[in-house]
Amino acid sequence: MDKDYFNVADIFGENVFNDATMQERLPKKTYQKLKETIRQGKELDLETADVVAHEMKEWAIEKGATHYTHWFQPLTGVTAEKHDSFISAPKENGKVLMSFSGKELIKGEPDASSFPSGGLRATFEARGYTAWDPTSPAFVRQDAAGATLCIPTAFCSYTGEALDQKTPLLRSMEAINKQSIRLLRLFGNTTSSRVTPSVGVEQEYFLIDRENFLARKDLVYTGRTLIGAMPPKGQEMDDHYFGAIRERIAAFMKDVNIELWKLGVSSKTQHNEVAPAQHELAPIYTEANVAVDHNQLIMETLKKVAYRHGLQCLLHEKPFAGVNGSGKHDNWSLVSDDGINLLEPGKTPHENIQFLLVLCCILKAVDEHADLLRESAADVGNDNRLGGDEAPPCIISVYLGEQLQDVLDQLINTGVADHSISGEKLDTGVTTLPDFLKDATDRNRTSPFAFTGNKFEFRMVGSEDSVGEPNIVLNTIVAQAFSEACDELEKADDFNMAVHDMIKRLAKEHQRIVFNGNGYSPEWAKEAEKRGLSIINNMLDAIPALVSDKSVKLFEEFNVFTKAELESRAEIEYEIYAKKRNIEAKVMIDIIRKQIIPATIRYTTVLAESVNMVRSATDAADVSTQVEMLTEVSACLKETKEKLVELEKHEAKGVDLADIKERAFYYRDYVLPSMEALRKPVDRLEMLVDKSMWPMPSYGDMIFEV
Ligand code: ADP
Ligand code: MG
Repeated sequence: MDKDYFNVADIFGENVFNDATMQERLPKKTYQKLKETIRQGKELDLETADVVAHEMKEWAIEKGATHYTHWFQPLTGVTAEKHDSFISAPKENGKVLMSFSGKELIKGEPDASSFPSGGLRATFEARGYTAWDPTSPAFVRQDAAGATLCIPTAFCSYTGEALDQKTPLLRSMEAINKQSIRLLRLFGNTTSSRVTPSVGVEQEYFLIDRENFLARKDLVYTGRTLIGAMPPKGQEMDDHYFGAIRERIAAFMKDVNIELWKLGVSSKTQHNEVAPAQHELAPIYTEANVAVDHNQLIMETLKKVAYRHGLQCLLHEKPFAGVNGSGKHDNWSLVSDDGINLLEPGKTPHENIQFLLVLCCILKAVDEHADLLRESAADVGNDNRLGGDEAPPCIISVYLGEQLQDVLDQLINTGVADHSISGEKLDTGVTTLPDFLKDATDRNRTSPFAFTGNKFEFRMVGSEDSVGEPNIVLNTIVAQAFSEACDELEKADDFNMAVHDMIKRLAKEHQRIVFNGNGYSPEWAKEAEKRGLSIINNMLDAIPALVSDKSVKLFEEFNVFTKAELESRAEIEYEIYAKKRNIEAKVMIDIIRKQIIPATIRYTTVLAESVNMVRSATDAADVSTQVEMLTEVSACLKETKEKLVELEKHEAKGVDLADIKERAFYYRDYVLPSMEALRKPVDRLEMLVDKSMWPMPSYGDMIFEV
């Protein structure tokens, strides 16, 4: 930024080919055609695409763009892009033309063979294609690499199977749209024509000094520390959460905001999180597919801007053991094109009934597909976070709050809800439900899935993971619950009676999924088991939920995934697990062999020399401390070496296993525990060895000295 002060409104969205820009630059007919295509979710015809592409290119060139890229989200968890310049073959006079055709806009053909496909696409038919998602606007990204026109796209195999997050997300949005409209119509709504899931994603991250980062090979290669003794002070003072933001961090956040605003990402709130060096950023919610794109842009921008400030942004779910990890809160609601939020408790009895039906359908969806929702939040890093310090437990439950819970209890027990806890008179048939103002619903930070006034907040998702899958699952399971409710209600003779009975029935049948207590308490795990809720403690145990008969039926019914696509995704997840844990093991072996053991030996030499030197200088001095230290350090060193050999043995055996699934389980059951066993003597050594000789920055150096 050359200017120190600026007007947000001036820069907001300046690098986005958004609706206003399109309206301004496209011929009226083209604009209308494009809008119509977007509205109907149809494919764009080539003639219109040519005009749009030309204008998009002219606009991008004005912003300095030399290249364009189809920007997509393969199943690697991050985005991918392949850059092409606008330059076309030079003319006879030696000058070049800048061109960009409609065909290039709507379809790309990256060589897809090196993206994960879980066996869907054999390498001999390696072609995949990317297709423009016109509902998510193109943007120009400006950085040290110059300016590039980025076109958000979906990524499919040549035979049409989805190889990305975007394609199934769009399909799931279609499903929830259709079923929500059906439900609204039952309640007499004739005005809404589209319902879209609205999503707002809160992103947590750590910031540390880049020099410290570079001095830690474990962070560089795996994103998390594999060893490290706890600092004398942790987060026990609660002095970081919402604490004043230091200037260095504030300067970073300012630049992040500017970058994001230019990209049309409405970065809104920022604050320090619970752990030292941990922060959070949240944009204002928007349509699910755009929100998923924006979350990727947020992650990219955080990393890029941190680099410029001599900082490193850590997005891993658990960069430091013993302090809080990072998550991503996926706030989700359903909003119609005429502004009705289906999760907003109503103002009239009529709306209240609709709200209660929606709520009970969601309870049913979450109860029946808890395993799938849990799976959607599973990733390798989250295995290190969930169930730990201030992270949701591995059990899916729904938090409703006292007031709402009470309404449902009355319905279940007496069939009518005629009063509310706050004392107001309540009759779902005659008067209205009390306003569930945000502040009236208690906050419960321990719940993985909490109702917060007019939306649900899914808090289990990992900070590094795409929010694609959680939203695909939410959209689809709720679409199914709506669909089943509509099937029944559309046939009912007495609609009011039928709806009333249904709410009561659903609330009763699925009340086991509701839990308003402390999710961090050990009693909850026991209680959840008694209720028969699924407790899935790690990623590998979660994966089968993707390919269960129940899931295949669900996703096929709503055209979100085919069975083959689900199987490929499960396969990819096993593969990612095995690969990531393998890298972690290898990095740990490397660090301990080449850095920790040599440093410790140097220290024992110093101790031994000291004993000899003091003894030869005088008989009067007591060298017992040096001797004791030498004995203790040597014993710890020996244990380190033994545990290292064990890890090496397991690592070697793991890599040799041919079956990907078997390998993943081997890493979880043998390699990971030996890594933990090795960490113990090493962390003890860190407390014994001279700090100036320890070969890397400590936890304290990293999280307190930013
Ligand atoms: P909370 O205090 O409940 O965490 P915030 O106001 O901090 O809520 O918002 C968290 C995120 O939820 C933001 O991204 C916000 O835009 C988003 N959000 C707010 N209302 C909705 C809604 N109706 N649907 C989806 N997301 C929403
Ligand atoms: Mg929140």
